[in-house]
Amino acid sequence: MKILITELIWKEGIEELINNGYQVDYDESLWSNREELLKKINKYDALIVRNQTSVDQELMAAGTQLKVIGRLGVGLDNIDTKTAKKMGIPVVYAKNANATSVAEYVMMAMLSVSRPLHLADYDVKKGNWDRKTYTGMEIAGKTLGLIGLGEISHRVAKRAISFGMNVIGYDPYIADYDHIVSETGVQIKESLADLLAESDFISLHVPLTPSTKYLISESELQLMKVTSYIINTSRGGIINERDLAAALTNGSIAGAFLDVLETEPIHPANELLTCPNAVVTPHIAGLTEESQIRTSLLVAKEVAKVMKHQPSLCVI
Ligand code: NAD
Repeated sequence: MKILITELIWKEGIEELINNGYQVDYDESLWSNREELLKKINKYDALIVRNQTSVDQELMAAGTQLKVIGRLGVGLDNIDTKTAKKMGIPVVYAKNANATSVAEYVMMAMLSVSRPLHLADYDVKKGNWDRKTYTGMEIAGKTLGLIGLGEISHRVAKRAISFGMNVIGYDPYIADYDHIVSETGVQIKESLADLLAESDFISLHVPLTPSTKYLISESELQLMKVTSYIINTSRGGIINERDLAAALTNGSIAGAFLDVLETEPIHPANELLTCPNAVVTPHIAGLTEESQIRTSLLVAKEVAKVMKHQPSLCVI
């Protein structure tokens, strides 16, 4: 049985597949050569991708031998899951494998604006000893608003509460008896508007779907406190970037941390690149050494299980 991997995977995942007796063809840039991918996909029993390979109807139809698709991550917006289901191709994803890394990124974002040690260090090394400018503020007592209360928010909430933050959440699909609420004490808000108005930090943890596209646009940004920060580690397209750049420029919010953008890599003309109060990172929130090994191993093991007709808890 042959497996095609079209994007970056850690060696632990490849070794796992080979140890299971599969032939693995790995080309981490194949996602960008659609023609070549369409030409060779019919030779493979499984396809493993990250978030850049567009696994659409055309590709699945060309993959006449495909028995399973593996996704090295959790966002499924690059995979046409409806068509996969119709065609009977199970999709395996890396359930929870990078949630802790994303949660730590969110904590880092909040701590880096509250205690800007990097700026103080830069200033001292320039020859200054300024004990006023970089003193910062505490995150204890501040309100964190979580939009979407799934696996990542659960981990962010636990950490933020242990730092003394007041954590509120908005998720129309979660009830107050759900484990994130009962285990962490997140206070549920019935309306997004209330969450936006009350939060000092807002962190987005929703999938990109038609209902979350541009969930945060001009009218939502206007509801936020002028001192507040927004953090997006979920998906580009959930925040309207033009509206955000305007809000950052006119001072209607204090700042933004953006790990994901509507176009990745970021377009050189994107106005956010010139906003000094926007911190932009290249989609790395979920990419730590630990999470990469976990993700690669988990997807390899679960794809192998599906190929052997064994049950997997990571199939959507
Ligand atoms: P999850 O499925 O556990 O939780 C998502 C939550 O969003 C669910 O509770 C769902 O009810 C809620 N939701 C859906 N639509 C909503 C809406 N309109 N308003 C409010 N809530 C809504 O997902 P997760 O594991 O927490 O991950 C969240 C997203 O983070 C993923 O979909 C993925 O796109 C992104 N992600 C990014 C990185 C990264 O490296 N930047 C890494 C991992 C995940």
